[in-house]
Amino acid sequence: MLTIENLHATADGKPILTGLDLEVNAGEVHAVMGPNGSGKSTLSYVIAGREGYEVTGGSITYQGHDLLAMSVEERALNGVFLAFQYPVEIPGVGSATFFKTAVNASRKHRGEKEYDAMEFLKVLKANRADLGIDDSMIRRALNVGFSGGEKKRNEMLQMVLLEPTLAILDETDSGLDIDALKIVAGGINAMRTPERAMVVITHYQRLLDHVVPDKVHVLSGGRIVNSGGRELALELEKSGYAGFGLEPSAAA
Ligand code: ADP
Ligand code: MG
Ligand code: MG
Repeated sequence: MLTIENLHATADGKPILTGLDLEVNAGEVHAVMGPNGSGKSTLSYVIAGREGYEVTGGSITYQGHDLLAMSVEERALNGVFLAFQYPVEIPGVGSATFFKTAVNASRKHRGEKEYDAMEFLKVLKANRADLGIDDSMIRRALNVGFSGGEKKRNEMLQMVLLEPTLAILDETDSGLDIDALKIVAGGINAMRTPERAMVVITHYQRLLDHVVPDKVHVLSGGRIVNSGGRELALELEKSGYAGFGLEPSAAA
């Protein structure tokens, strides 16, 4: 589903990704771990096509297509979902309206019937409660004034509604208390299907107690330096990144 080869990327002219390789198959959940400043968020930004991050070498292939040649909108419409470390706030746009627009755009793209307002409210209602999101949160402007945990749960709701083919979750677990962490992990687990792949980017192994990954990768200095099964995350937890000979990059 996703093949990243020898990826090099810069931000503000500074090299950040320095030859990153990653292969993810349908049905798999991969965890990408690494010290602060190793390039984890940059990897998700490059996959998202965020402005300011320039690919200077290598390739990203998604379902046989050159992902880097696709616009940001095309990536989303073709089932790529990205949950960011710092979710954006959109004043003046209600969460429900934002979600409905996004969900209908992707349904239309897939040749499915768009939801009308009543249908969408039903779908929303059926999914939000599982994520511990109450109705008042849905009525508020997207992410504005939301706590860290509320933003993350809202993002999970967005993911569940969009039914992506490939989901990249950047530190979705950061700033969550244990109850919110379990809710988010439950959301991720409920999304596991043989057709879908997920890349869970995380600094800590804590989330991986609840979401058991098929593979674990360690990112350091802008490339993947170690890959293994879930035991790798447990080893990292025990010895720390330093114990692995991995230092955070100087600028972190
Ligand atoms: P991580 O998510 O693993 O903590 P990041 O991808 O956020 O790492 O950052 C990797 C490195 O790139 C850090 O040293 C960071 O300061 C630097 N960096 C990230 N974005 C930019 C940017 N827009 N301009 C300059 N440097 C950046
Ligand atoms: Mg960081
Ligand atoms: Mg980061």
